[in-house]
Amino acid sequence: MELLALFLLSAFICAVVASNKGRNVLGWFLLGLIIGPFAIIFALVVSTNQEIVEQNSIKSGSSRKCPFCAELIKNEAIKCRHCGSEVPTTIDSEENKPKYELPPGPPPATTSEKLIVVGFFSLLLVGVLVFIKFQ
Ligand SMILES: [Zn+2]
Repeated sequence: MELLALFLLSAFICAVVASNKGRNVLGWFLLGLIIGPFAIIFALVVSTNQEIVEQNSIKSGSSRKCPFCAELIKNEAIKCRHCGSEVPTTIDSEENKPKYELPPGPPPATTSEKLIVVGFFSLLLVGVLVFIKFQ
């Protein structure tokens, strides 16, 4: 019983680490469920998916790409810290945003939404385990 809780906790930690590294949250959650604390070690060792992390950072509006060297810079930056070029301010980039509207329908789930789902199922599973134990 305690072992199951440990595996469940491992799975959740894996999901959080994976999410921060731009990795597959649900995949790592399942791996954590299967191999428990060992999965945390793997999750910590595995390399960060820089591309996804950058995309998330751009989507959240905290960063953007330097038009000269394509490195990630702060949204408020007026000078690139990587190549030293003067970059247009956010007011300009606001105008460069695509004008088209997204087709109607549910928006794709963000990483944090996936984490909430994973967290919910973790709690559900703990609830079921506790229920079984006290039967
Ligand atoms: Zn640059």
